[in-house]
Amino acid sequence: GEALAVSARVAPLGSRLVLLLVEDLTEARRIEAVRRDFVANVSHELKTPVGALSLLSEAVMDASDDPEAVQRFAGRMQIEATRLTNLVQELIDLSRVQNDDPLEDAEPVRVDELVAEAIDRCRHQAGTKQITMAAGGTADLHVWGNRGQLAAALGNLVENAVNYSPARTRVGIAARRVAAPGGELIELAVTDQGIGISDKDKERIFERFYRVDPARSRATGGTGLGLAIVKHVAASHGGEVTVWSSEGQGSTFTLRLPEAGAARDRTQQQARLD
Ligand code: ADP
Repeated sequence: GEALAVSARVAPLGSRLVLLLVEDLTEARRIEAVRRDFVANVSHELKTPVGALSLLSEAVMDASDDPEAVQRFAGRMQIEATRLTNLVQELIDLSRVQNDDPLEDAEPVRVDELVAEAIDRCRHQAGTKQITMAAGGTADLHVWGNRGQLAAALGNLVENAVNYSPARTRVGIAARRVAAPGGELIELAVTDQGIGISDKDKERIFERFYRVDPARSRATGGTGLGLAIVKHVAASHGGEVTVWSSEGQGSTFTLRLPEAGAARDRTQQQARLD
């Protein structure tokens, strides 16, 4: 009788364990599939510029008696080489934000400095398109995190805003402090008057290598990794990134990050509890 009672108590536990095990295996299989897709994507993305470079170098050799053609082909080789360099750099950045714990060297980071840096990074591109960049509300705000990663995240958002906007439009960066259940958050909103993003695409743009229009992305030197990097940085800092967009009207990407003061208080509280 007792054995029966015990097994009746253990059986549900056993089936739950089996279920957990099955869920674990399914998750492991899913991760493996994602990894395989990623490697396939990287290979494809690397092959494209390398293939172009190989063809162009042949063209240069064949055109050795036509200096003008040589110039033209050499120019295109330079573009492909830049594309390759960008891709490798973004892959390094992505692997860094995925593997490093950003809070290991977290510090209070001035929002006005982050914003100035992001604007600086796009100044040339914005200038050629006569895009006006303006920032507001950044004074006296500090976020808590890894300076390099935060700069890369905001830089990517501003770069996209410039890249996916027509000439003579405006890109705005607005910062503010907002109250949240876990403490104060700093909200950084990057708004453009660009091409916008459909509802269907909104769900996928944060995936690695996903682009709405691969040709357009490539033309601007895009790799399809920028928003994946932003999403990782936001999550690992205990924040988030969201998008609002209206096709043909523009987009707003909002980065929410823990405020320096609030995050520090939490860490200290945690230390007391430990
Ligand atoms: P990419 O290197 O192609 O810019 P991202 O990961 O940064 O890669 O962005 C993924 C895709 O999301 C882009 O290819 C583009 O289609 C879309 N996108 C990103 N930012 C914007 C924006 N501000 N306006 C319109 N589309 C955007």
